[in-house]
Amino acid sequence: MEEAYKGYRDPALAVLKENKVRVWSDVEMDTSRGNFKGIILPRSETADERHIVLKLHNGYNIGVAVHTIRQIREISYKKAEYKIPEKEFPYDPKKPNVKLLGTGGTIASRLDYRTGAVIPAFSPGELYGSVPELADICNLETEKLYGVFSENMGPEQWIATAEAIGREIEKGVQGIVIGHGTDVMHHTAAILSFMVQNSPVPIVMVGSQRSSDRPSSDAALNLIHAVKTTAESDIAETLVCMFGPTSDQYGILHRGTRVRKMHSSYRSTFRTIGDIPLALVDREKITPLRSDYKRRRDDRDVIINTAFEEKVSIVYYYPNMKPDIIDSLIDNGYRGIVIAGTGLGHVNKPVYPALKRAQEKGIAVYMTVQTLWGYVQMYVYETGRELQQLGVVPAANMLPEVAYVKLAWALGQTDDLARVKEIMLTPIAGEITEREPYNGYLIYQGGIPEVEAFLRKIKR
Ligand code: ASP
Repeated sequence: MEEAYKGYRDPALAVLKENKVRVWSDVEMDTSRGNFKGIILPRSETADERHIVLKLHNGYNIGVAVHTIRQIREISYKKAEYKIPEKEFPYDPKKPNVKLLGTGGTIASRLDYRTGAVIPAFSPGELYGSVPELADICNLETEKLYGVFSENMGPEQWIATAEAIGREIEKGVQGIVIGHGTDVMHHTAAILSFMVQNSPVPIVMVGSQRSSDRPSSDAALNLIHAVKTTAESDIAETLVCMFGPTSDQYGILHRGTRVRKMHSSYRSTFRTIGDIPLALVDREKITPLRSDYKRRRDDRDVIINTAFEEKVSIVYYYPNMKPDIIDSLIDNGYRGIVIAGTGLGHVNKPVYPALKRAQEKGIAVYMTVQTLWGYVQMYVYETGRELQQLGVVPAANMLPEVAYVKLAWALGQTDDLARVKEIMLTPIAGEITEREPYNGYLIYQGGIPEVEAFLRKIKR
């Protein structure tokens, strides 16, 4: 086939013509790298003319080099319409008013065939056009705060989001949904749990692992679950509402400070760590799994505290770590360091001198555990005792990311290290718990008989 396109200015087009197929043809492609079945997509701005982009039936896009193609056979042809129909969201005075604040991520995305990328797109009309069930639950008003993938969220966006939440609560909404990328959702959920306190209504974060142009997308279901929780649940906390089991039966409501993204691609990626989730949600009902949560209220007495010190870092310990890692943070003016240590909360001896320097410079150093489940315990081994003498403070069972944002929040409020310690070690939003339930750990494992039995019991 290499010969066939030589001399053409646009070899991809030449190959399509030769095989009598077009953009939007569903084809079977025989290539020297194997056979592929999928839909030929329009060429993106950045693609070159030596590749044809195929949307495979599993939803992934691949670029096929023209010179590898032996033959293309058209199975069918259907021009795709990727513009989401815009419809005005209906208003029903009997329904609760919910505000959706968009920050971006896959949930607000669709595939842009011009650039070939998944881009954030967000409008109330588009949302209603694609998920009309939302109107059965509430009156939804939307506002796009950002259109970013979540790795770009940071203090600037967190502060503005917390302020927007405060404004909306004062205006009287029944609850707030925050559309967000999943990658960093647990950081944002944690910092909002600290920045927004005493909320009288639910603040529900939602995202999706698969964009809405893919058949297996979790976007619509997650959104329906999140909006239902916001409108109807009595849990007035910052929550993450994401996909439960792959059976599509229900979503899970996780407490904002105890949740973590645990799988890079499964839809069922969020897990409550060190605890059990707060509730399950399906299209019909919300089923609490426990009762120790803050309840919905009618007042509007929310407290917004957006303090944030940017000079805080997480250091993930690894064997053979050198003190220069800590030294460089000290030299760069960092005021706080959260260590994710081994086992009960340890690092190696060569790091000690750097920790001593940090202590002398008045840098707040906190220890968390890489195991994620369980508590830092620095009285058990000599290492723990020595580290405490070097000023390292055990952060109980706070997750490393949670300790990171909480330390930034605490240092944003005061320079007094004793006060910082008091803030850090006082549970504010479930980030430190008295004990971790063993059945929570089993759920995390999944698939083993006693877990299935346990789940059957709570679903009844
Ligand atoms: N990279 C995306 C994000 O976190 C992934 C997602 O939304 O699921 O923004």
